[in-house]
Amino acid sequence: MFLAKLHNRALLRMQTLSSVRKQLLSNNDLSPPTTTSNFVLEGAMSHSLQPHGSSRIVCMSDTHGKHADIPFLPHGDVLIHAGDFTKIGETDAVHDLSRYFQQQQQDSGFQEVVCIAGNHDITFHPDYYEKTWSRHIRSFDPFETREALQHCTYLEDSSARILNDKISVYGSPWTPSFFQWAFNLERGEALGKVWGRIPNDTDVLVTHGPPQGRQDVTLHSGNFGCQDLLQEIQDRVKPRLHIFGHIHEGYGVSYDGHTLYVNASNLDIGYEAINPCIVIDLPHDKTQ
Ligand code: 5GP
Ligand code: MN
Ligand code: MN
Ligand code: MN
Repeated sequence: MFLAKLHNRALLRMQTLSSVRKQLLSNNDLSPPTTTSNFVLEGAMSHSLQPHGSSRIVCMSDTHGKHADIPFLPHGDVLIHAGDFTKIGETDAVHDLSRYFQQQQQDSGFQEVVCIAGNHDITFHPDYYEKTWSRHIRSFDPFETREALQHCTYLEDSSARILNDKISVYGSPWTPSFFQWAFNLERGEALGKVWGRIPNDTDVLVTHGPPQGRQDVTLHSGNFGCQDLLQEIQDRVKPRLHIFGHIHEGYGVSYDGHTLYVNASNLDIGYEAINPCIVIDLPHDKTQ
């Protein structure tokens, strides 16, 4: 049943290096192992053809200043970064990322670049930054750092319509509290309120962290995705695609029959840039 349904949606394609193929599909109890045969998992270097009537979305996340080291960045229509683009919100790293985005638009044909912040991008959360970080370490100017982010659409609990109105994308940086980083909120009411703002008509949801049970397994201690986010996604929003990162070791994809979940973390648990970008060809026909 699942197989047949997914087969009809064969235009949803994903490619990545075959060396990480096993890792991609073995991380999550909830993802049917048979998913393998339905997504087109190919060597990223083989440049699989983009199906007619689709938008190619290239997903990246958790680059922590190492965007230039990502093993493979294919051509595409939209480049999406799901947060943690710095280690501690460094202004220089943001300048460098902006130049990288500009370069990718020139070299790889991206019409749009969409970016959100993560818990490490502390200068993008000025209230938090003033209270906690600027007293302790080399400080940066949050205003200047925010200004440094160019050549992309930055989303923070906000939406954009991209590719001539074809796709509605919503982005949000919040994750459940963990060691008092930026954009942290308590599970339950506080996070529920944030997720309640995601519009019903969202096609592509971008959050920094995973929902509960989807590519959210940490190396030592279990699932740390957000239950409140999963509930909002499955009960109400039902986006076609959910892109996130944050739990580096959860890199991979799964599918619940409506939403394709993509943990696009490029860096592994040791902060090495080993994971290639995950590529999704999203059909323009929203019933597919
Ligand atoms: P980052 O510090 O880049 O946000 O996350 C790096 C790593 O910290 C993740 O890959 C994961 O191993 C761990 N981590 C992040 N958030 C949590 C959390 O909420 N709980 C636990 N146990 N580990 C987390
Ligand atoms: Mn990270
Ligand atoms: Mn929907
Ligand atoms: Mn993170």
